[in-house]
Formats: sequence, C-alpha cells, structure tokens
Amino acid sequence: MISRYNILKVSILAVILISGCTETKPPTRPASYTQYDVLIINIDTLRADHTTFHGYFRNTTPNLLALSTESVVFDRAYSPAPWTKPSVASLFTSLYIIQHKTLMGPGNEQDGPKAADILSERLKTFAEVFQDNGYETVGYLDNYLLHEDYGFSQGFEEYDSACGGRRKLTSKYLGYLNNRSINGQSGKLLTYLHYLDVHYPYYSKWNWTDTCNLTIENVTLDVHTAEGHEYFKLKTAVENAKDFDPQEHDITCLVLGYDADLRGMDRSIGDILEYMKKTGTYNKTIIIITADHGEEFFDHGELFHAQSLYRELLHIPLIIRIPGQKPQRITQPVSQIDLIPTLYDVLGLSVDMDYELSGKSLLPLMGYGGEYNRDRIFAENSKNNDWQTIIWGDWKLIKKGDPVRLYNIALDPNETKDVSDEYPSEKERLNKSLSEFHRNTPRIIGRSEKAQIDEEAMLKLRGLGYVST
Ligand SMILES: [Zn+2]
Repeated sequence: MISRYNILKVSILAVILISGCTETKPPTRPASYTQYDVLIINIDTLRADHTTFHGYFRNTTPNLLALSTESVVFDRAYSPAPWTKPSVASLFTSLYIIQHKTLMGPGNEQDGPKAADILSERLKTFAEVFQDNGYETVGYLDNYLLHEDYGFSQGFEEYDSACGGRRKLTSKYLGYLNNRSINGQSGKLLTYLHYLDVHYPYYSKWNWTDTCNLTIENVTLDVHTAEGHEYFKLKTAVENAKDFDPQEHDITCLVLGYDADLRGMDRSIGDILEYMKKTGTYNKTIIIITADHGEEFFDHGELFHAQSLYRELLHIPLIIRIPGQKPQRITQPVSQIDLIPTLYDVLGLSVDMDYELSGKSLLPLMGYGGEYNRDRIFAENSKNNDWQTIIWGDWKLIKKGDPVRLYNIALDPNETKDVSDEYPSEKERLNKSLSEFHRNTPRIIGRSEKAQIDEEAMLKLRGLGYVST
C-alpha cells in the first residue's frame, strides 16, 4: 500500500531474478528503532538558504549547524505549497494538495469572509497512524491556521495551536517532558512542534540588528516594533505598485529583522536539544527539523510568502537525525511529503488506510535497499489556485495560466532567466508532465470541506495578515 511494501515487493522480485547469486542485499530499513520517540520541529517561514548549514554568510543557526553534522541533511527539499495551511495539510497526510483539498483560508471571495477549508476526517493524519501504533501524541503549535477547528488536531491526544511565541511554546513542551518523567511515563512519544517566530512581525534583536525604519509606497514601518497587519499592508502595497524598485536599505532592514528572529529561534532549538541531552532522551529520539515554506525579500519583486512558487518560497530545510545513523548530505531533490512515509519505514509502523500515500520513503537515498522512484517534484499555490510547478532534473517550469516560464536551475538556481523560448522541447516535456500529474493523481477528497471560524480566530489571523477583509 505504501512505499515500504512496494520496496519489499521489488526486493522479492529482485531476489527471484538473480536467484543463485550470493550477493548480500542491503536491508530495506534499519532494524532497531521501533521503541524510539519522534520529535518533528516545523519552523514556519524558514527559507533554507538563510540557515548556516546551507552556507548563509550570517551565523543565524549555530545550533542547527551542529545538529546537521550528526544528521542526514536533504540539501534540496521542497515544500508542496508556499504557505502554511496546504503545506502542513500535505505534511500531515503525505498527500498532494489536489488530494487533500485543504486549500483556502478565511477571507476568500469564493466562500465568504469567515469560511475556511478543513482537513477532512476522511483523511488519516500521521498522528492518527502513530496513535494506532501505540504512541502518545502531542502537538504544540503557534499558528491559528492550524487550529483544531480546521481538523489539524486529528490524532493528537494533546494539541494547542496558540502557544504564544517560541519561549512559551518551548517551555510548554519542556514542562510536558518534565512532568512525564516525574510521573514515570515511559511509553513511545510523538511530538509535533510548530513555531511561528521567523514569520513577521520581527520582534527579536540580535547583535547585528539596530533600529531599522523603512518607507515603501507610503507605508512606513519600524522593523522591530511594527505589528503583523502593518507588514501585511506593506506586502499589499508592493503587490499593487507597478514596476516597484526596492531600495537596498529597505531590503537589508527586513532581512536583518528576519535573521535576528531566526537566531532567536535557533536558540530555542538549542535549549530543547540541551534538555534532551541532559535527560538522556537525545539518543532515543528521531529528530526532524523542517519548514512549511520559505520567505521572499524581493527576490522576484515581491515580499513575504504565498504569492508564487519560486525557490525562495519552496526550498526548505530538512534535517533528519536518527541516532546511530551515518551523517550524510543528500543532493537529490525530494518533496516534504516524503518525510512521513520515511518515519513509518524507519519505525516499522503498520499503516492502515484505504488509499495510497503520495509520499515515498527516503530510506533508499540513505543507503537502504529499494528504490526512491521520484524524479519529479510538484508544488502549487492553491491560495490563488492558478500557480503550478514541476522540477525535473536540471529544469523547473512554473505555470501561471499562460504563459509558462522555464528555468535551467542547474545554471540559474535563483530562477532569474526564463528560457522557455530557447528550449521549446524542454518546455513542452515539463508542461505535459505537469498536466498529466494533475489529470492522473488520484483524488481522495471530492470537494473541500468548510468551517465557519469565530471572531477570536479572525482577529488572530488578521494580525498575521491572513485575512484581507
Ligand atoms: Zn507558514
């Protein structure tokens, strides 16, 4: 049903085909992780290229850098969507957006100001699978888009989607671990932490930041004191401006604020890792660090996220630390929807559902047997429902209605030069594959399910800039 079983089938077939051969095949998964805990840390809005372990020039993430040297790092991991809700729905279900159909936030014209899509009960989240396999399941989050009213708490015994900043979220989690230990609870634990601190507004300061004021299109902002809705006003002003030419000072101001928040975020992760080392759980836990999408600072003429499918919004960090496993850097492109099937594989979980996951286990890339048979990465911007992309080998095609744009990402990784006129056959090949993907991918949910959200949630979402009404 999922890739592990497919890998097994392939392995059995291979053995039959080469019967008589005495060569030892690698195992399809490591043997001894069935009693391990799992900790997934999803850092909202973290673009990979601002982390030290991806070579960023500022020392934004010393703790993540140290962790990366003991882990498997996927250098080219991509989010399936450029904003939180569809991306996290894909992470939780290992399905593409066209399959789970959790697309729209509130404030969209189609459904009215207070209607928002929910993650359907029909779908089985990874937390439900872990629960079926005897894990205690805990989620501490900080993003109202992932509120329990929208179905994201399925499978979590304990779930708080509004922890109130990285310090509170971290101490809530560490407090939980502490209580567990005091109470002598020693069962298997799955934890999902979702931080919002790298998302604007940028309140943290670090030694490279100072007061930073900017004015863009008549919107004035103090980077360290402005609130979320002011940032959203700025984003909208840039979107509405024709041929906007950002000034170096303004870009630097925003990036410094973002980097300072990231440095603070990294410190919280350092606190967690230190606690785990002190209490002896570090080497009994599989630790994952990732992000739901990236962030733009005028890379393609716009600000923040949800507006397009360029690299700054889709290229995310993916670190997997499995105690005892060899540290590696893996350069093959992978999709974030592959993460959960990888965990199912490593832990040997039984997965009982009546549809196939679209994610594929990453274990073959980490030196285990079987095949990672994904050569194409897909993503879409479902908020506007008209952006789609495919990455295939050296090429990336971005489609926003007509025309389409083609980039040679081997030669032009920042996607600056559309070469669709120079390479019509590549353009045709990728465009055809993208259309086939949309036509042939099995749908699991017929139509999006909706919830009406309350005034408190509306206020929180407005503060983040997720509601324009
Ligand atoms: Zn997000």
